[in-house]
Amino acid sequence: MTHPTLTGRHALVTGAGRGIGAAIAGSLAALGASVTLLGRNRSTLERAAAGLAPHAGVHTAQCDVSDELQVKLAVDGARQALGPIQILVNNAGQAGSAPFMKTDIALWNSMLATNLTGAYLCARACLPDMFEAGFGRMVNIASTAGLTGYPYISAYCASKHGMIGLTRSLALELAGRNITVNAVCPGYTDTDMVRSAIENIRINTGRTQAEALAALTERNPQRRLITPAEVAHAVVWLCLPGTESVTGQAITLAGGEVM
Ligand code: NDP
Repeated sequence: MTHPTLTGRHALVTGAGRGIGAAIAGSLAALGASVTLLGRNRSTLERAAAGLAPHAGVHTAQCDVSDELQVKLAVDGARQALGPIQILVNNAGQAGSAPFMKTDIALWNSMLATNLTGAYLCARACLPDMFEAGFGRMVNIASTAGLTGYPYISAYCASKHGMIGLTRSLALELAGRNITVNAVCPGYTDTDMVRSAIENIRINTGRTQAEALAALTERNPQRRLITPAEVAHAVVWLCLPGTESVTGQAITLAGGEVM
């Protein structure tokens, strides 16, 4: 049996400079894909790019995913650097928290703009390449917050529920074109995002760091944080041959937290 490979595929990963996105970019490159790492911070992107498998084609694109023109220019640049894009991973995201009555319009708009509109803009920019190739894989990094509610993150939850709706609709619309569209829904994962959530809990409740961490991990029946590598593994699986029939799914990685 030959080893499955992504050689010849160009994958664009948003929010690829750190955290889950960096792990996804690394795993795709390790299987031979060329990878465009997209994000707002150039030096973070370049550091992540330098750590990728040496054989992989690599491009970095500085871009705010909520800005339509920036997305268009970044995707055009990626295409020029590494060729047409066959794999899109919509990972860029932010997690602002506040009680609902303190969720002002700026927080609401910024959650929707990055987490949901960003995926919409990147999908529209990349899909023409997938149509042309008659092949495509889109993976949207949603969250358990896309499947169930949590207090104090209503805007984040709304944006992630929207991302799952987008995933399901697009999966149906593109089913006849050999393009699959899936969401991966991690529970609390060990990245900067969770580190700042722990810090917020500490500041707002007076709990220690260990108590704040326990408050997050106790939601997961396995009593632990998910690792970025576990999320990357699921994304890669959805991009490899053999998962052609998996589309429109929201795959939960949360130790049984959501069923
Ligand atoms: P991090 O905060 O560690 O990383 C977020 C990434 O998104 C960074 O690379 C950041 O890069 C990028 N980003 C943020 N805003 C924008 C923007 N407007 N345009 C382009 N890039 C942007 O978070 P995680 O790695 O934890 O999160 C990755 C995804 O996984 C997010 O969508 C998140 O909602 C989701 N997720 C995370 C969970 C967790 O517990 N950590 C749980 C469930 C889902 P830069 O700042 O350089 O632009």
